[in-house]
Amino acid sequence: MFKSVDAQDILALKALIDPKKVITDLPEGLNVDEMPIYGKGNAQVLVNVETTDDVVEVLRYAHARHIAITPRGSGTSLVGSSVALHGGIVLSTAKMNKIKRIDPLTMTAVIEPGVLLMSLAAEVDAKGLLYAPDPGEKSATIGGNVATNAGGMRAVKYGVTRDHIVALEAVLADGTLIHTGSAVAKDSSGYDLKDLLIGSEGTLAVITEITVKVLPKPKFTVSLVIPFADITTALQAVPPLMQLPDRPVTLEFMEKEVLEDAKEYLGKDFADRNWPAYLILSYSANVKPALESLLDTASDTLKKLGAKDVFLSDTTDRLQAMWATRGAFLEAIKNSTPEMDEIDVCLPIQTIPGYLQEVKALSVSSGVRIRSFGHAGDGNLHIYLCKDQIEASRWNALLPQLLDTLYTRAFALGGVVSGEHGIGHAKKAYLKQAVGEPSIRLMRGIKAAFDPTGILNPGKIID
Ligand SMILES: Cc1cc2nc3c(=O)[nH]c(=O)nc-3n(C[C@H](O)[C@H](O)[C@H](O)COP(=O)(O)OP(=O)(O)OC[C@H]3O[C@@H](n4cnc5c(N)ncnc54)[C@H](O)[C@@H]3O)c2cc1C
Repeated sequence: MFKSVDAQDILALKALIDPKKVITDLPEGLNVDEMPIYGKGNAQVLVNVETTDDVVEVLRYAHARHIAITPRGSGTSLVGSSVALHGGIVLSTAKMNKIKRIDPLTMTAVIEPGVLLMSLAAEVDAKGLLYAPDPGEKSATIGGNVATNAGGMRAVKYGVTRDHIVALEAVLADGTLIHTGSAVAKDSSGYDLKDLLIGSEGTLAVITEITVKVLPKPKFTVSLVIPFADITTALQAVPPLMQLPDRPVTLEFMEKEVLEDAKEYLGKDFADRNWPAYLILSYSANVKPALESLLDTASDTLKKLGAKDVFLSDTTDRLQAMWATRGAFLEAIKNSTPEMDEIDVCLPIQTIPGYLQEVKALSVSSGVRIRSFGHAGDGNLHIYLCKDQIEASRWNALLPQLLDTLYTRAFALGGVVSGEHGIGHAKKAYLKQAVGEPSIRLMRGIKAAFDPTGILNPGKIID
């Protein structure tokens, strides 16, 4: 049990940090994230920290009194991870939003955790550089991206957020400040605490400063939209594409039905909507002949693998329109149904065609509409089970059975619970099923080492 925040705590917090940062009139939306199906939180007070010292003060106070702390960025999580299940303080790092420096010499940027993905991307772009991770929700904070080890479209070529984090400053549950990682190229210096914090969903420490890698921005980028007669043929083309000497930057799959949801939601059409299934591929290069050669090789391979056509998107307008449609899929599906649940498994890419056939068969046999799209090149699927007009009692009985079937099958194929959205409280049971009790025991030990009294984001990842 955690101590409930009372009037005396509010006064004490207001004495410790600028009182304007302590908010008791809670903003709408603070008690949910982007997946309302996982339920609401019970935040008692919002503290908008602006400095590392603020974080130290608040954590010291909460630790001494056993008050629960839920770190939060933009609240765009999809697993209930930024929701205060056990009341207490929501500690928002959204206002710690300074880009402190971008250093072309070490090719790094030092930022505060509340910097938005879109702000960092634009700022480095203006300097001819690239921050490579590209998760779909551009208004997420980089702190949230680090805490969930966010993935996104460009993971096929560049990897996920973890691969672009050089160093972190963080505050432990008792208010102790730590620095982990370094801007040097190699590091074999003991246990990697930085990597433990990445993906820890606010359960181990509050991240207060992040050093990210930046890369030279490729000069030319082109995307291909490739229609197929069916989704299985489209997905069977993925492993051969990944075996070509040059990796695509993105390799996404989608079906006509999702494009229709997106058209309904956005009021705008995609490049083409005449075929049942599509792949989208992007390539980038610094010289045009190299890019043309990449495109020729990919087009020849795709045609041999059953592609019905290869459409080129090479102007800024076309590229933006196409990626805007892709970026809207989640919201479009959410908009199409009163309630939905999401699966974010990541599978070996060669198993995806068979797995999706099973998903479709389950949809038919259960009568539940299931939509899917995802990052075909890295095996990360987004699968949405839509309630539509199904009666609540039937839906509540059916949903866990369908989830159990889909997760169990994914694990049997060598898949993991979450490719990029994390565990939060929504997927704890499936994490346990997937990794087993010995691994959960180790995770509990890690949690206890960082946060012995368990005040940081209680109820998330593990019990
Ligand atoms: C339309 C849409 C598309 C999306 N697309 C993608 C995608 O392509 N790839 C992907 O990976 N995700 C995606 N997401 C999920 C979401 O955007 C990411 O999980 C994102 O990283 C969350 O960032 P946030 O700032 O909103 O964090 P929040 O939701 O506020 O928090 C997420 C987690 O991070 C912790 N946290 C936040 N800040 C800190 C901090 N400073 N210190 C410690 N812990 C902290 C929280 O406690 C919580 O556990 C998408 C979401 C939406 C709604």
